[in-house]
Amino acid sequence: MADPRDELIATARALGANGLNRSTAGNVSARAGEGFYITPTGMPYETLVADDIPLMALDGTHRGQRKPSSEWRFHRDLYATRPEVGSVLHAHSPFAVSLACLRRNIPPFHYMIARFGGDTIRCADYAIFGSQALSTAALQAMNGRQACLLANHGLLVAGRDLGEALALAIELEELCEQYWRACQLGQPVLLTPEEMRAVCEKFAGYGQQ
Ligand SMILES: [Zn+2]
Repeated sequence: MADPRDELIATARALGANGLNRSTAGNVSARAGEGFYITPTGMPYETLVADDIPLMALDGTHRGQRKPSSEWRFHRDLYATRPEVGSVLHAHSPFAVSLACLRRNIPPFHYMIARFGGDTIRCADYAIFGSQALSTAALQAMNGRQACLLANHGLLVAGRDLGEALALAIELEELCEQYWRACQLGQPVLLTPEEMRAVCEKFAGYGQQ
């Protein structure tokens, strides 16, 4: 069986390849038993090996030779409160950060917003990185959703597994870019609550069953 830490490292490297991160900003985790594996703090993803990946327990303690990402708290809190979450990914991707600096929710300018579980992508209140206050704000913004923006900071997504988390992050960054571009030309026309409800219903029965 493949080592889940290797899949975690591959996903972390894919952030850079997909334009979601530069250098050591951002972090990725995957649920493992009673806890989760998470990328270590301050290490370039290119040089990571499986033994660099700490295993954290839900009480915030960790095992391994490296310290976990300083932003482990929102990972831990998502695993502790959302049993369906198998992977959490956080990035400082350029378009998501730009919109997060406006501290506004992304409205339903495109039907794919519904892919994240509602008719907006919420922007969590600002709190300093790595703090419990930031995690609390993030979880509130993620309520019933698979993504949020973090004010003046970046994006956060939660998926069933690493593959879904990465796909959601790529999609969210793309939506942020599209919204930004549309706003250059004028005020985007938003989908109505009824139109978004119909999209959510269609998504619920969509895909490979
Ligand atoms: Zn961050």
